[in-house]
Amino acid sequence: MIACKQVAKALANHRYYELPWWRRIPMFIHIRLCVMCGKYHRQVVDMQKGVHDYLQHEEAGEVEAHLHLSEAAKKRIEQALEQKQ
Ligand SMILES: [Zn+2]
Repeated sequence: MIACKQVAKALANHRYYELPWWRRIPMFIHIRLCVMCGKYHRQVVDMQKGVHDYLQHEEAGEVEAHLHLSEAAKKRIEQALEQKQ
């Protein structure tokens, strides 16, 4: 099992969904099993995944027109995510 520190460092330096699977899987398992950092990192990962899923749907044109985020709004979300970390 990887260490809490490694999870924190990876999440601080990378977007969860941009990591290769061989780094995501041990992190995912750690976050699910670790009481210490699980609660906090689970929120970060879920939020990043949520934004990622949303952006994918938007690119695919599956989001209603009135729900589209402006570029400024996307930037604000990205900045908020970076501050969280
Ligand atoms: Zn941990």
